[in-house]
Amino acid sequence: MTEVKSDIEIARAAKKKPILEIGAKLDIPPEHLLPYGHDKAKISAAFIAQQREKKDGKLILVTAINPTPAGEGKTTTTVGLGDGLNRIGKKAIVCIREASLGPCFGVKGGAAGGGYAQVVPMEDMNLHFTGDFHAITSAHNLLAALIDNHIYWGNEQNIDTRRVAWRRVMDMNDRALREIVCSLGGVANGYPREAGFDITVASEVMAILCLANDLRDLEKRLGNIIIGYRRDKTPVFARDIKADGAMTVLLKDAMQPNLVQTLENNPAFVHGGPFANIAHGCNSVVATKTALKLADYVVTEAGFGADLGAEKFFDIKCRKAGLKPDAAVIVATARAMKMNGGVKKEDLGREDVEAVHKGCANLGRHVQNVKKFGVPVVVAINHFVTDTDREIRAIKEYVATLGAEAVLCKHWAQGSAGIEELSRKVVELAESGHSQFAPLYPDDMSLFHKIETIAKDIYHAGEVIADKSVRDQLHAWEAQGYGHLPICMAKTQYSFSTDPNLRGAPEGHTVPIREVRLSAGAGFIVVITGEIMTMPGLPKVPSSEKIFLNEMGQIEGLF
Ligand code: ADP
Ligand code: MG
Repeated sequence: MTEVKSDIEIARAAKKKPILEIGAKLDIPPEHLLPYGHDKAKISAAFIAQQREKKDGKLILVTAINPTPAGEGKTTTTVGLGDGLNRIGKKAIVCIREASLGPCFGVKGGAAGGGYAQVVPMEDMNLHFTGDFHAITSAHNLLAALIDNHIYWGNEQNIDTRRVAWRRVMDMNDRALREIVCSLGGVANGYPREAGFDITVASEVMAILCLANDLRDLEKRLGNIIIGYRRDKTPVFARDIKADGAMTVLLKDAMQPNLVQTLENNPAFVHGGPFANIAHGCNSVVATKTALKLADYVVTEAGFGADLGAEKFFDIKCRKAGLKPDAAVIVATARAMKMNGGVKKEDLGREDVEAVHKGCANLGRHVQNVKKFGVPVVVAINHFVTDTDREIRAIKEYVATLGAEAVLCKHWAQGSAGIEELSRKVVELAESGHSQFAPLYPDDMSLFHKIETIAKDIYHAGEVIADKSVRDQLHAWEAQGYGHLPICMAKTQYSFSTDPNLRGAPEGHTVPIREVRLSAGAGFIVVITGEIMTMPGLPKVPSSEKIFLNEMGQIEGLF
């Protein structure tokens, strides 16, 4: 067997084109590309504004079954499909999220795709890239500093120091900072209070940047952030302490989408990266909308499985941005089917058609769920070398019984040549005009009813339970004018239920709501159904131990 190359080895061998040439493919004039080195560029706000009247291309969502610990290859398939569409003569752009430093040094797994379906420069993309996350960190922490400063200088807004709702952030997995006490050291340092850090991708500023339509909208949403409450429980907003203007200034460049390329020199927009639990987990609205103006096909990805990622993509991002997806691809792997069918990770290398069959129930539920949004679906079987023909056939036969098609894809090993069939199928679905996209619930449904609708229609839960305090809180927000907001579910990604070990397609389970949070700037209500980590920790052996610079000054160990 020939040796399998690592993602970084493949990426390093890429024959990249200068970024101005990639921009030229999209008819972006050089004066509107703001290069960061030779292989990355931001697209100017002026150019984006000029595209407004142009017709939109077709929007394709790539989503997946409930993930297994290995990762199912959503990003790999998104990038592969973009290359595949270009290969069959369509003008296509890939839109994916930026990477966070935390997971990069924690658990193995990059954000640029893998094998022969990657976005380059992958080293930059997985590290500092164009500085967007640093800008978001700075804007977030400016607000944090302004809050403590406001309290220090007399607290004109009467912020209750026990009810400050704005934490600090940094782009690192650092459990030591989860809970801290700040302002220690005496009168000159302010009022001591409990505080803490989240990872940057969990910042509401990240979610806002990804949902804002332009800089004006960004500023308005930043102003709407609730930073804390007074003793009478009324909210204090970021605009009340005049933070929104300076935060917008810090985010001016970060708002502009980043253009890079795939291994096959096709354009890719990499922009924004909100958490998929307490936020919506999709790339920025600005990047997606701009790409739709410049290409016939835009392929984008949503985090986690379709029960969370696709649902939020449809109900939050598409609803709010007025996007209408034309087709959806659900990524499945034989390995994940087996895990959903009860096989342990150690035993995945062995053929087990029966387990594949059993695990298909999970895939089937996702196929039916996506259809509920009126979007036509095709299943992409992301091929692993250990898959057997019989396992693949079992998946295809199962999907056919649902009135859909499953297509075997070998883009990880072969690049665009391995994903032509899926590309043609996606074109057929998108051009069929069959998409009748509509969100799952209307804006004017009550907040609790929205939560129940997601739990029952998507998770197949029997009931939603919540303490009186949670229900009272939802009613209070409705009274304050937040009742029209969509719901952002924070649930385990491993199951349709709230129990990560309950794989397959469980029915009739109970969804307990622990907590609800209002993200008034981003514009959604976060519903927390289990332990949600907003500042991850590092594992016992972090992947940083294997990362170093070799004698040639090249980065080693980044996957
Ligand atoms: P996701 O976006 O679903 O989290 P990724 O596309 O980032 O998953 O892939 C996760 C990891 O799995 C990457 O390191 C990638 O190289 C690897 N991978 C993806 N598809 C395959 C495949 N068909 N065979 C082997 N490894 C794969
Ligand atoms: Mg991914």
